[in-house]
Amino acid sequence: MALKKASTWKRGPFDPSSSEPFKVSRSKIDLFSECPRCAYLDMRLGVKRPSMPAFTLNNAVDELLKREFDIHRAKKSKHPLVEKYGLDAVPLNDERMEEWRDALRRGIAYLHKPTNLLLRGGIDDVWVNPAGEFIIVDYKATSKKIGPSTEDDLYDSYKRQLEIYQWLFRKNGFAVSPTVYFVYVNGKSDAEAFDGKLEFDIELIPYTGSDTWVEPAVYDLKKMLMSDEIPAIGKAFGGGPCDYCTYRENAGKILLDLHTKNKKK
Ligand code: SF4
Repeated sequence: MALKKASTWKRGPFDPSSSEPFKVSRSKIDLFSECPRCAYLDMRLGVKRPSMPAFTLNNAVDELLKREFDIHRAKKSKHPLVEKYGLDAVPLNDERMEEWRDALRRGIAYLHKPTNLLLRGGIDDVWVNPAGEFIIVDYKATSKKIGPSTEDDLYDSYKRQLEIYQWLFRKNGFAVSPTVYFVYVNGKSDAEAFDGKLEFDIELIPYTGSDTWVEPAVYDLKKMLMSDEIPAIGKAFGGGPCDYCTYRENAGKILLDLHTKNKKK
């Protein structure tokens, strides 16, 4: 079955009686892994967690890295960072890259027929090795005294993110390398003065991903969406509410009390 244009995909809360594929982004799978209750509130009841302010400096770094790797994509040459780490790979030169990188509207998508969920995610980059395997790559930016340099320094959510992309590309029929790479830049805050520029250290961090958890999570997600029961808070918060929940519940209780008092007057 050919996928419909992204602009026509169903949006809004999940409707258990609808036969239309329901669109689930990579970040919603991650939300479900983190806290099924929040995923239910968002996808089934239409109540989203407050959004964070945009990380515009990180976005600028991402954009510049994309441009830099695009120069090597056009030339089919290795980036010096890739050379430095002894990796035999070049940026993938494929006309679908623009689509796969479009995190907001398109990305790499797959209709999982048993659940009728349309899974998708926007990648930062794909490199290709001499065996023709796709290597999923993500750009990350931070500013820490000691920057990340090994797999142990990566957040679990970052690992899950790239494992979902590996799964999506495999489901689309591509050969995908088990190793993904994080191009991690660390803004140096120990310079004598700002002087209008921020310097970065740059590391290439490999991680061997396993996407075996993704499909079971997709089935569990669909089961949750079909249920009328609100799931428990996820283990990510030690079984207790996170700050958002505490705020929401406290505000909700106070507003309800006020409403009840006003009605009695
Ligand atoms: S604990 Fe946090 S993540 Fe879970 S439902 Fe509450 S607000 Fe959402």
